[in-house]
Amino acid sequence: MKKLGEKCAVFGIYGKGLDVSRLAFFGLYALQHRGQENSGIASTDGEEVYCHKGVGLVSQVFNEGIIKSLPGHIAIGHNRYSTSSGAGAEYAHPIETSDKSISLVHNGNLPSTTLLTSFLKARGIELKDASDSMIITEALHSVTKEGKSIESAIEQIFPLMTGSFSLLIMTKDKLVALRDQYGIRPLSIAKLNGGFVFASETCAFHPIGANFIRDVNPGEMVVVDESGLKIKQIVKGIQKLDIFEFVYFSRPDSTLLGKSVYDVRKKFGKRLAEEYLIDADVVIPIPETSIPVAIGYANASGIPFEMGIIKSRYIHRTFIEPEQHIRDQGVKLKLAPLKEMIENKRVIVVDDSIVRGTTSRQIVKMLFETGAKEVHFVISSPPVRYPDFYGIDLPKQDALLASKMTVEEMNHYLGSTSLNFLSYEGMIEATGLSECLFCTSCFNGKYPIDLKERSGEVKY
Ligand code: AMP
Repeated sequence: MKKLGEKCAVFGIYGKGLDVSRLAFFGLYALQHRGQENSGIASTDGEEVYCHKGVGLVSQVFNEGIIKSLPGHIAIGHNRYSTSSGAGAEYAHPIETSDKSISLVHNGNLPSTTLLTSFLKARGIELKDASDSMIITEALHSVTKEGKSIESAIEQIFPLMTGSFSLLIMTKDKLVALRDQYGIRPLSIAKLNGGFVFASETCAFHPIGANFIRDVNPGEMVVVDESGLKIKQIVKGIQKLDIFEFVYFSRPDSTLLGKSVYDVRKKFGKRLAEEYLIDADVVIPIPETSIPVAIGYANASGIPFEMGIIKSRYIHRTFIEPEQHIRDQGVKLKLAPLKEMIENKRVIVVDDSIVRGTTSRQIVKMLFETGAKEVHFVISSPPVRYPDFYGIDLPKQDALLASKMTVEEMNHYLGSTSLNFLSYEGMIEATGLSECLFCTSCFNGKYPIDLKERSGEVKY
């Protein structure tokens, strides 16, 4: 099975009289950080279904003419993050059934699709090279083809979906939002001029003037059609939001479980300063995610905060990947050190996580080359020791630096003067929420959803 539908953004809108595709375009723009490889929008006016998707950023895939070619009062959109399966347009969402009766966008990942594929097989359907999102779409279609409503198809298929999913499903007259039982990936609802908007993150609401109402609850189905909004709790939800949304993915101006991401990240920094007060001259974030963390650290420690590393904001992976000699430039393509802030200084450099260690190692080297006297690395999450199966696109376990090295060995490998990770308790306490509301599997190997045939991939 292809590994798709990971670390993505979904956006959906239902509203008579609204320019839904243009609003979806702006919504996806605000969610660009969740995926830069493909983008797509499907819309319907109740008669026809229109769809455009392609390779690249939202701004590369869409233009005025294309947006105008997507009319109607319902639209769904998606930004896809690159995975091992590649960046081709064939991987882009929305996924559509051959008769265009169902269009679907997915954020999350189903580590096991055995139940769904057996269900389809029993109905004489065998899919080749299908992603989890395509399998879900076909399973729903196999039920609606029998004359059942999309709501009953969802209720029938729901127990067969093993994994994380924040889904938006569009038919010619309905927009349906659905979140897995554990609400691992975020999904929120807002109101706009009598219509309704759904988005992976609340930061997508502000630019289009929509007002946040609440999150789609774990295990809940929300249906919008001509008669308004209908809600059905399909299974009892047990909230387990992926804590990595706070650590890395989400935009700082988003709200998760009622908490500001910016504020939580600042508290990560404060807590880091309490756990590791390092004698240094300057605190520098690796942009963008760790900026509020570094502010929190600087405020709590009294050590000056400086933007000692500048990120080239508009550089994008698809431009970087093809040429080996360009790729060899590594982190320098994206990050430039500010000599005045680094030379002859004892530097605390703050990042959100260490995954493979590749970029961190290059950053340490770059800082020493710029003249830093000491480079103290502080990380606003605990070591990532376990692989992910729910859609955050971490590498296999043996590629995770922390799964094969102690912190001391990692420090040696990175070449840093010191290396310190936020404690697990520190991370949880900084959120101001209870541990039981989170999926923390990449830090402690506790997976809330059965990994079934993939469970052999985790070593404890
Ligand atoms: P590395 O030093 O190679 O382990 O890379 C760590 C950096 O990757 C951190 O700065 C994170 O911001 C970033 N990162 C963490 N998780 C992911 C992910 N799932 N996809 C892309 N980047 C990530």
